[in-house]
Amino acid sequence: MMYDVTVIGAGPVGIFTAFYGGMREMNVLIVDALEAMGGQLAALYPDKYIYDVAGFPKVKAQELIDNLTSQLDAFQDTTTIRLKEQVSELVKEADGTFTITTNVATYQTRSIIITAGNGAFKPRPLGVENEEFATNLHYFVRDLTVFANRNVIIFGGGDSAVDWALMLEPIAKSVSLIHRRDEFRAHEHSVAKLKASKVNVYTPFVPSSLTLSDDNDGKADAVTITHVTTKEAITIPADDIIVNYGFVSNLGPISSWGLELEKNQLVVDSLQATTTPGIFACGDICTYPGRHKLIITGFGEAPIAIAAAKKYAYPDSSNAHAHSTSMFEKKK
Ligand SMILES: Cc1cc2nc3c(=O)[nH]c(=O)nc-3n(C[C@H](O)[C@H](O)[C@H](O)COP(=O)(O)OP(=O)(O)OC[C@H]3O[C@@H](n4cnc5c(N)ncnc54)[C@H](O)[C@@H]3O)c2cc1C
Repeated sequence: MMYDVTVIGAGPVGIFTAFYGGMREMNVLIVDALEAMGGQLAALYPDKYIYDVAGFPKVKAQELIDNLTSQLDAFQDTTTIRLKEQVSELVKEADGTFTITTNVATYQTRSIIITAGNGAFKPRPLGVENEEFATNLHYFVRDLTVFANRNVIIFGGGDSAVDWALMLEPIAKSVSLIHRRDEFRAHEHSVAKLKASKVNVYTPFVPSSLTLSDDNDGKADAVTITHVTTKEAITIPADDIIVNYGFVSNLGPISSWGLELEKNQLVVDSLQATTTPGIFACGDICTYPGRHKLIITGFGEAPIAIAAAKKYAYPDSSNAHAHSTSMFEKKK
């Protein structure tokens, strides 16, 4: 399958770029290293309000991502979404198309738009042996109900870890919260609620090992934690383990794709074109004089990049865009 455009990065700008690809009747592939759409908004500040998105006096970061994702649904027949795939390599073929390689697959595409923000996100790991094999260890919590009547262990000391512990307490069989410091970095109000709750709090403790199940079902049955100063070790049985140590981002392979970079950002012209014909960039990953690192800046760049990518993929195509008002009326 040959895609018209591949969008690398499903942050807010990538999702909107993919939507705009649909507006221009392109067959779109969108790829992200994370297991959820939303880039910085979903990974770093899902519960914070954003006050400077045009048309929204205030909107929660996760809600903005949910809205962008349902907007993209309008073109679900022509959009392919691949999550948990990091793009590692881009090769330009003799006919001007590209082969993209991820850790999972290779794809063919006529053009590329890089919307990679600060680079690929990865959850910061727990840092214990066999972590990658434990199928009941989660870095994202999407649906609280899957933890109903289960023994849940949460690692972390920030707002998300404390909020998850409080939200799970009424539905899980037991909740244990483990943090390496005595003080939590969460809102005072949440910490007060935590102290009054039935959550088992262990501080200052760090994880030391996972006990994988004898059933060979890929699950960790228990977690052993060690007291930071006394070195006392405690083993806690677990049905599920949630790790909330934040995320790290890494420009990684992008710097080896032969594109001009300035301070770790891709240099683009007024058509959002990088220094390699057929490869465009928008959002936080790109730079030009006067650019502001804001969500709305990236939203404005998306239609420009899509128009230029379409022209590259189909040189005879018209550069005129249709207004969504008339386009969506026709679709009805
Ligand atoms: C705490 C905080 C508050 C903020 N508040 C505001 C605000 O109020 N208003 C505002 O306008 N902006 C705000 N920002 C900035 C805003 O979040 C960014 O401008 C925005 O996220 C940029 O979107 P993006 O889609 O370009 O990149 P990102 O959101 O960074 O998304 C990039 C995506 O690309 C993926 N990716 C990268 N490399 C690869 C690869 N090789 N393969 C596969 N996937 C890859 C990453 O995993 C990531 O999901 C805030 C930022 C932070 C941290």
